[in-house]
Amino acid sequence: MGTGVKEKPRRTLRPTKPFVPDLVYFEPDALNYPKGQHIMEWVKSKDIPYRMTSSHNRITNLPGETDQEKYRNAKRTLVVGVRKTLKFDQSKPSAEYAIPISTGCMGHCHYCYLQTTLGAKPYVRVYVNTPDIIGAAKQYIEERAPEITRFEAACTSDPVGLEHITGSLAELITFMAGEEFGRLRFVTKYHHVDPLLSLKHNGHTRIRFSINSDYVIRNFEPSTSHFEERIEAAGKVARAGYPLGFIIAPIIWYDGWQDGYAELLKRLADTLPAEAAKDLTFEMIQHRFTKTAKNVIEQRYPKTKLEMDIARRKQKWGRWGQFKYVYPDEQQNALREFITERIFEHFPEATIDYFT
Ligand code: SF4
Repeated sequence: MGTGVKEKPRRTLRPTKPFVPDLVYFEPDALNYPKGQHIMEWVKSKDIPYRMTSSHNRITNLPGETDQEKYRNAKRTLVVGVRKTLKFDQSKPSAEYAIPISTGCMGHCHYCYLQTTLGAKPYVRVYVNTPDIIGAAKQYIEERAPEITRFEAACTSDPVGLEHITGSLAELITFMAGEEFGRLRFVTKYHHVDPLLSLKHNGHTRIRFSINSDYVIRNFEPSTSHFEERIEAAGKVARAGYPLGFIIAPIIWYDGWQDGYAELLKRLADTLPAEAAKDLTFEMIQHRFTKTAKNVIEQRYPKTKLEMDIARRKQKWGRWGQFKYVYPDEQQNALREFITERIFEHFPEATIDYFT
């Protein structure tokens, strides 16, 4: 093939099960909404312990002796609440706005920026007042019409991994199908897409899968669906007529990265059904971190192999009001050029949205 990619024996992996929390909190007001009641029935049917809380922003008494234990328990705690702020954040470069249906994630990706952006609230929050959220989205669409307004549903969470509990993506997809000037997009590391396949979407929702080299997935992405599951799900999504995309993120420089990323693109091309290769988009995000993130990651995942040596990075001013550390230009260019070539080698019709 000219890439020098060696075939590695595939590991047999256990299927990744849908998320079932260990503990659930409800805001009393959430039970006034059909989705809140529905989640309560699900919680009872699964015999999951639950408690009431005055606010989804104030969960303080989570079990655990150490901070690390508390963090792990928080990631297995679901909080069901009402979204009060209906002003949407911007979501550059992938969309105009972030649409808030959930916050937090049960995954344990070492590099995940939610570790710092969510601060002391790493538990998983879902919002039951989807009609209000959809109403706000409609206003944003109308303000910009006839320009297209894109909404990203996975800025602060991985909503596909929560869809079996909430059904919120199905509501957004169905709403957006009827919006001439509205588009929805979200990205996931989970493969539980079956509830979305039969929906009427009108091509207005782009589903993207976050993918990476085997080395990165194995070392840095615990508690997410494995590569084969994600690719199989991508095939299903494409067969259901959804526009499809991939985010390669974070792109990591490690010994053997060329082989790793060449193999990734080859496996993708070998596994993806032919119809999925049409209208494919790729987004590429190099690994970055802040000093705050580095400290938090080293506390929470003390054995991580994630390289965060400030001396080997380039400093860049970040929108969170502190410096972030990216790869020096030479490394960035090498990563971008190599992966871009592999993408076009296997998917000549694909679009690359950005490298950042
Ligand atoms: S799946 Fe996404 S949102 Fe969840 S921990 Fe991993 S990077 Fe973060």
